[in-house]
Amino acid sequence: MSASTLRAAGMVTLVVAALLGSAYALGRSLVPDHPDRGTGVAASIHTPHYGDQPPSTEFPGPPGGGYGGPSPDASPSASDDARQPDDSEGPYGARTSTGSTRIALTFDDGPDPQWTPQVLALLKEYGVKATFCIVGENAESHPDLVRSIVADGHTICNHSWNHDISLGKRSPAAIRDDLLRTNDAIRAAAPDARIAYFRQPGGAWTYQVVSTCEDLGMTPLHWAVDPTDWQVPGAAKITQTVLAETRPGSIVLMHDAGGDRSGTVEALQRLLPELMHRFQLEALPTGTT
Ligand SMILES: [Zn+2]
Repeated sequence: MSASTLRAAGMVTLVVAALLGSAYALGRSLVPDHPDRGTGVAASIHTPHYGDQPPSTEFPGPPGGGYGGPSPDASPSASDDARQPDDSEGPYGARTSTGSTRIALTFDDGPDPQWTPQVLALLKEYGVKATFCIVGENAESHPDLVRSIVADGHTICNHSWNHDISLGKRSPAAIRDDLLRTNDAIRAAAPDARIAYFRQPGGAWTYQVVSTCEDLGMTPLHWAVDPTDWQVPGAAKITQTVLAETRPGSIVLMHDAGGDRSGTVEALQRLLPELMHRFQLEALPTGTT
């Protein structure tokens, strides 16, 4: 691919990202608070309608980066021949691969009393271990679900206190406080939980958030496959995207909270047997300590 084509592809990517960011900001401002949330001032501040959508251009990403997994042709600096198509590193070195041929399903934004139990039941039915990226305020609200996730042998990942997509732009002390508060809420529910990973909401990584999560002993966790289930594309589309894009080593992003996840649950019913036929599935390793 020529340099001019790459530059053009990069510009298109930036424009699309800007449009998506604007559309999301508009959509988010129109979304009412979740009716199930508690009352009071705090409930009106934090909207639970999360989604790990592509970040706005406020987060241009690192040199050579690009969000959303292995699409090197869309990266403005994809001319770096050293980058392999199956590069396991995402933005700022965040992980996009299991590091083996096994694949890992990850579920973000919960726990949620409606959807998390359905996801857990399906995983148990198929004997699959996965990884749950937990939002601190949801852990505080639903400690029983955190305990269920841990008891079933799934891996726990910190997903910030209240899904702050701008977290990476805050001060190192504020980032640290947010991550520690989230870990505290998870451990208040499940004292033995090992929290080995952190996933930045929206994938809006910055150097500061990566460095802070690593200082706290957590591995920054991105993804390779994103069926954008938070946009509610329907079970068929979610299934199709995951089956088309998952390769050995892929980390797959899905959601067990943040909106109507019936499509995700229905997709899982089709995906689990098919993925098990093609791959080994694993909960991401939590280390030796
Ligand atoms: Zn999220």
